[in-house]
Amino acid sequence: MIFPKKSLGQNFLIDKNIIKKIVNLTDINNKDVIEIGPGKGELTDQILSNKPKSLQIIEKDSNLFKILKLKYSNNKIIKIYNSDILKFNLEQITNKGSIIFGNLPYNISSQILVKIIKFRNWPPRYSNLVFMFQKELGDKILGKYSSKNYGRLSIITHYRLKLFNKFLVSPNSFFPRPKINSVVLHLVPKYDKNFKIKNIDNLEKVTNILFSNKRKMIKKSIEKILNINNLKKIEEIDLSSRPSNLKPEIYYRITELYEKV
Ligand code: SAM
Repeated sequence: MIFPKKSLGQNFLIDKNIIKKIVNLTDINNKDVIEIGPGKGELTDQILSNKPKSLQIIEKDSNLFKILKLKYSNNKIIKIYNSDILKFNLEQITNKGSIIFGNLPYNISSQILVKIIKFRNWPPRYSNLVFMFQKELGDKILGKYSSKNYGRLSIITHYRLKLFNKFLVSPNSFFPRPKINSVVLHLVPKYDKNFKIKNIDNLEKVTNILFSNKRKMIKKSIEKILNINNLKKIEEIDLSSRPSNLKPEIYYRITELYEKV
């Protein structure tokens, strides 16, 4: 008997149509696949029936790990890790063209996404990401400039990922039933040659500093990292703007400058 652990975000998918819809977003036949947080193997079974070349799954819960080990003991293409995804070297096990799935634990899903966006090698080896998020977080990830959801997360996400597809999932598709709606995002990596940020950590730092006070004019916070004179190189910048009034491209330019000086 499995008692779902709230602390590990254990809401298991029970709706077979949704499971199929998620897995069918990409063609995984003969591809290397990774799944984060397989739980009892609901998505995993569907992934396997679509015949991937290999499947690597990472589950933190030791009880579920044991169940998965037993369940797939005769399966030669599956490799199961009992690890915390936030400490795990995901980049290392990613092969060229890998597809990464995850009905992610809600409490750490933005951290997982940021980890994957910050892979050292770019373009990355993975070709597709298919993740389930809390709907509200999904809105923040996609938040377009001048919308209420625009912010740090969408600026970083748009720098490296492009939305390919999305659909909503109702709480009724899970057990236990969560209180919130969910959304599945299908994202693909992008490589924008117009910007040359050397270290993506610096984009994270710049957005963190500027958004640390959303109501303040950016002039105040930007002085903490750059001499204002340097900013003259960015023509369109208005130092009296609030952080949410700066387009993503301006954040990328500020980060480039920050790296130069
Ligand atoms: N894949 C299953 C499904 O779709 O029904 C389970 C999804 S459930 C929302 C999230 C899963 O992630 C749980 O199995 C949970 O134990 C696991 N998990 C939670 N935190 C984790 C972590 N830090 N690293 C790896 N797995 C984690």
